[in-house]
Amino acid sequence: MSTETPAKTPAAKGAAARPKRPEGQWALGEREPLNENEAWKAREGGLAVRERILSTYAEQGFASIPGEDLRGRMRWWGLYTQRKPGIDGGRTASLEPHELDDEYFMLRVRIDGGAVTVAQLRTLAEISQRFARGTADITDRQNIQYHWIRVEDMPEIWDLLAAARLSTTEACGDTPRVVLGSPLAGIAADEIIDGTPAIKAIVKQWVGDPTLANLPRKFKTAVSGSPHQDVAHEIHDIAFVGVNHPEHGPGFDLWVGGGLSTNPMLAQRLGTWVPLDEVPEVWHGVIQIFRDYGYRRLRTRARLKFLMADWGPEKFRQVLEDEYLKRPLLDGPAPVLPTTKHDHVGVHRQKNGKFYVGATPVVGRISGSVLEGLADAMEKAGSNRLRFTPQQKLVVLDVTAKRVADLLDDLDTIGLTARPSIFRRGTMACTGIEFCKLAITATKSTATTLVNELETRLADVPELFTLDGPSLTINMNGCPNSCARAQIADIGLKGIQVPNPDDPQGPTVEGFQIHLGGGLGVHAGFGRKLRGLKTSSADLPDYVERVVRRWLKERDGEETFA
Ligand code: SF4
Repeated sequence: MSTETPAKTPAAKGAAARPKRPEGQWALGEREPLNENEAWKAREGGLAVRERILSTYAEQGFASIPGEDLRGRMRWWGLYTQRKPGIDGGRTASLEPHELDDEYFMLRVRIDGGAVTVAQLRTLAEISQRFARGTADITDRQNIQYHWIRVEDMPEIWDLLAAARLSTTEACGDTPRVVLGSPLAGIAADEIIDGTPAIKAIVKQWVGDPTLANLPRKFKTAVSGSPHQDVAHEIHDIAFVGVNHPEHGPGFDLWVGGGLSTNPMLAQRLGTWVPLDEVPEVWHGVIQIFRDYGYRRLRTRARLKFLMADWGPEKFRQVLEDEYLKRPLLDGPAPVLPTTKHDHVGVHRQKNGKFYVGATPVVGRISGSVLEGLADAMEKAGSNRLRFTPQQKLVVLDVTAKRVADLLDDLDTIGLTARPSIFRRGTMACTGIEFCKLAITATKSTATTLVNELETRLADVPELFTLDGPSLTINMNGCPNSCARAQIADIGLKGIQVPNPDDPQGPTVEGFQIHLGGGLGVHAGFGRKLRGLKTSSADLPDYVERVVRRWLKERDGEETFA
């Protein structure tokens, strides 16, 4: 969930001229806070609010929380106010943030690398059932997100998480957010390198470190040594991508400055090879550049991608080497682009001869009881390791051959099929109007209806129901932000209000702007927004069915949607 009102600035076009006004770059001595967020962060950082939550707000309740903490610092601990129920999307832009505030919170638990044990799964299930009205969503950043959280319950929730070695520290806010990792790290036979030690080192050394807790904006990291490049590295502030160096062997290619939202930009390679044990040091250098040189004047220009657009990769690397690492980096080769999409779904052999099973909730929506059922199924199958994926799915690891069939049945029983249609497999949705204060449209429910409708309407096309068939991604956002990565989907859907097709002169209704043909890897690029291509939510299944049938009819052999 983004925290920003969508920007109205035009799309950046490569290296723009350097802005004349001070941008709030600390390294240039521009320390005067230039907006409200910078001002309150300068008065007191976000990390400080934890003590007040424990000592005061949990005791005295929601009404005791002042606005600066409520809509600011609490994010540093994974807490956002959720949207008051009953306010339709047509009113979102006309209301002040506090008018949209409910007295309940969304709570995000960071799960770096997406990796949990059965015991941790049971803790996540318990929190859902006791404190979150049974809610739990797998986000496309491998987090677990709850709703309906009361501030009064936070001390107990944090105790439970701490006992399970989980945390909400810097799960949101202008901080180093959860580190994405390959769901197959350490188990895939074709892995170039396992990035897990680097992820653990980054989290241990720097998450919660006050020197990195006041960044210009959020900072997103991904580390994957999979040749399938399965963490959407192109849209991260920093990403380490597995690559084989002809002389030095397996290591990582460094990418910097990607991000979506209203000014989407793909990350750029710095052309350097980083060995595993140097990843944390290089990560620390890049995040310090962001802290020191990042633009703090406008929140809509504060992500690292804007600095990269102005500097370019050569200057960025030079500053990194000269001012932060104090040494040159090795040059390195570009990673080989994968030609097929890889999403971990289905049953596959691990390098140790056991199997992993990738299963699919619909658009990441699960629940406390599903988490509990999943833990039971894993225990029965002899597995103690689970990974959440950046595609809102999950993977059970370490299953022996003779237990795979029973596990598949048990997963089916709790609604987590490992044999999905391409629609269930390829559809993601953001939080949307149900809980997000910026939303214009409903997403989780609309996308679930869409998946169900497409499965029924296209039941006559068997290839859409096999794991070896064509692939299709449908990413649905509830506003112009891009929490569900709409611009890089085959069919990207951006929530807007549209005229009511049955009453064009009447009030507007929920709908979507359609972007077609986005992708990553060999097809990296943003979907095209076709002028006038919009649909109401009610007409969405008709539209997607038409597009899919036409694609299947007209494609050339195995031609992908992109
Ligand atoms: Fe993100 Fe969706 Fe909320 Fe927009 S509606 S800010 S895309 S979660």
